[in-house]
Amino acid sequence: MSDTKRYCQTCRLQLDKRGFSRHTLSVVHRKAKLLRAMLERNCITHAEIARRLGVTRERVRQLALQMGFPDGRSRHATCRMQRPKKEMAEFFVKAQERGFEVEPLGTKSAYINGKICVQRQACWHDLGKGKYKYTYLSIYRPAGRFDICAWKLPDGRFLILPRKLAGFRQTTFNPEESERPGTASSSHHYREHIEKWSLLGEPHGG
Ligand SMILES: [Zn+2]
Repeated sequence: MSDTKRYCQTCRLQLDKRGFSRHTLSVVHRKAKLLRAMLERNCITHAEIARRLGVTRERVRQLALQMGFPDGRSRHATCRMQRPKKEMAEFFVKAQERGFEVEPLGTKSAYINGKICVQRQACWHDLGKGKYKYTYLSIYRPAGRFDICAWKLPDGRFLILPRKLAGFRQTTFNPEESERPGTASSSHHYREHIEKWSLLGEPHGG
């Protein structure tokens, strides 16, 4: 028995005792190109590669090692570093422009001056019918924890309310000055909270 190591020309893997003809029938040899391509992409996990090739995760780990790839943990760490940072919602970008320190908790929530702030969207909503039909903005209270919610209005401004003023599940309001009296369900005082950035306190925590 020879001690000389033999390698397959195609997939550059070391051949075992079973020899070349047996090796060419293996999943690894047949899918070597795909395996290499997947291992080169750090964000595809060994588990995912195993699933796609129909082999065990342990087999993928062994093959990756033989083929000279970093281990799963290193590949994952590289993936995380290369992954582009998720963009913050516009309210937080604007807050940063105003000098606030924003510590993102997700794309739509962040800590600002120790307060949990979230961004939501306000949308147009029709109330009534015919000549009694008015168009108002409709807002929903966010589920989950928050101290301040900023709803983005269609004109790009923000309605900024503290939690204590967001006791509703859903409400409507008219963002513009109007001679129309509105309805009992539309709260005009929210208008004063449009662009009320002072709720966030002073920029730079001062
Ligand atoms: Zn091969």
